[in-house]
Amino acid sequence: MVNSFLVFPRAFTSTICCGYTVSESVYFAHQQWLANAESAFKEIRESCEPAVFSLERLLFSMTSDNRTQPEVLQMIHPVIERIRQNELSLRKVLYDLGLKSSERLPHSDARDGKRRRTRNPDEADDYECDVCRANCYLSVVVRPEQEVVYCLNHAIQHLQKKKRDLKYFKLLYTYDQAELNELSLKLAEKLNSQKRSPKKSPKKKSI
Ligand SMILES: [Zn+2]
Repeated sequence: MVNSFLVFPRAFTSTICCGYTVSESVYFAHQQWLANAESAFKEIRESCEPAVFSLERLLFSMTSDNRTQPEVLQMIHPVIERIRQNELSLRKVLYDLGLKSSERLPHSDARDGKRRRTRNPDEADDYECDVCRANCYLSVVVRPEQEVVYCLNHAIQHLQKKKRDLKYFKLLYTYDQAELNELSLKLAEKLNSQKRSPKKSPKKKSI
């Protein structure tokens, strides 16, 4: 592409502007990028950089999209499984700490704009952790009256130090435990059925 720069996670850019500039970015990636996506997003999180989009949202959308190719599903299946296990284990830690209040996140269009922390208008429905700025698509812990937003990891850190705050916080989630389990199970079944019945190659025309 002429006059275009492609920026992926693990890449940095430096720009010097000496005047009025108009630019437009288009994000896309090759299939191979998925192999590095998990570690790339982990690095972004550890450096407290806001992610341009949610990896979880991308992977979960790909899982439910019938157009996703079998080889891509094969690549993302272990990542989805790790995300599921990590998500459920963090929720259990919070529950065991005493955080019993929870609520399903309303449909994205209906969310209250006041509590949103976003940097990109296109991602205006996602919560961003006050500490690490992670995009909290699957779940988030909030203290509504103070507009405090934590990812699960930072909610655990906070509530371990200040247990008396438990009564003010609430877990908001996109998928409950049963839905997360079902999503992973369905993906595994889909992959198994594809293995059992691979696509037939087109028949050769007889002469
Ligand atoms: Zn965080």
